[in-house]
Amino acid sequence: MILMKFANFKDINYIMQNKTNKKIPTAQAIIQAKCPKCRKGNMFPVPIMSYRRLSDVNQECPNCHETLMPEPDFYYGAMYISYAFSVALLITVMVALNVLVERPDLSYYLIAVVVSNVLLLPLMLRYSKVLYLYAMGRIRYDETY
Ligand SMILES: [Zn+2]
Repeated sequence: MILMKFANFKDINYIMQNKTNKKIPTAQAIIQAKCPKCRKGNMFPVPIMSYRRLSDVNQECPNCHETLMPEPDFYYGAMYISYAFSVALLITVMVALNVLVERPDLSYYLIAVVVSNVLLLPLMLRYSKVLYLYAMGRIRYDETY
């Protein structure tokens, strides 16, 4: 009798929804390049290893349809983050070469910096945009999606 009173359809629906809508941590959503609103839809239409259309961003989220392009040319600001990534990489490579190689030649530095930049270009391009959208996009996380 008591069970019947509490376990009506509305409650069951509510419980089921809570189970499927587990909160997704911000760091996980950023690493997986998910939409800031639902943290489920992909920000990019193609995988990171495809060099074609690498820098394309979805106009809207495929899951919640939140616009991922808040204004025209929004992602120009991501250049600053990309630049910071490049400088951090340059310093890392310089320090690593100094530690690992005894009296490295100047050409070693140049080759190592160029090669590491080319290899990590897709990562830096994408994550600069992801971080820029999360920081400047003014999109709040909505767990109900
Ligand atoms: Zn979304």
